[in-house]
Amino acid sequence: MTRAVIAFGANLGDREATIAAAVRAIAEADGIDLAAVSPVYETAAIKDAGVDDGAPRYLNGVVVVETSLDPLALLDLLQRIELEHGRVRTEHWGDRTLDLDLIDVDGMMLDDERLVLPHPRAWQRAFVLQPWLDVEPAAVLAGRGPIAPLRAAASDEVERR
Ligand code: AMP
Repeated sequence: MTRAVIAFGANLGDREATIAAAVRAIAEADGIDLAAVSPVYETAAIKDAGVDDGAPRYLNGVVVVETSLDPLALLDLLQRIELEHGRVRTEHWGDRTLDLDLIDVDGMMLDDERLVLPHPRAWQRAFVLQPWLDVEPAAVLAGRGPIAPLRAAASDEVERR
């Protein structure tokens, strides 16, 4: 079994309901045991050009799972759940009903065309690091170090729901 950290985000539609359904789908999937679900935070949308105050705000958090799936099978599962929950994409980093990202899989470093581990932007995103810190205070991000100082250095603002 490996331990994986999955980040979720939603900024369109009924965000709470979408997140609840996605967490349930992850928890019920074959080969997955849910270990922790973080508190949920409200955050500003971040686009290519930076914070977009005109875009609907996100709800973000993380789930930690124990899984027998390999990382690409886990990504397949997350992408299937995104589709099932009506993800609509109009642009890179665009608004979406549901975004699921694989943040860390047991500290593995991977540079596959479909999957980069750890997630390349996680180290600088408070909307990932803060909920992860809530459930795993001693966590380390491969290649970057403990997440507590990374969280302290991250400049995006998160508001506990
Ligand atoms: P996004 O729209 O930002 O969620 O990006 C989705 C694309 O990123 C998909 O084509 C994935 O194959 C790719 N990808 C690469 N690394 C990751 C990762 N760690 N977690 C989720 N998607 C990833």
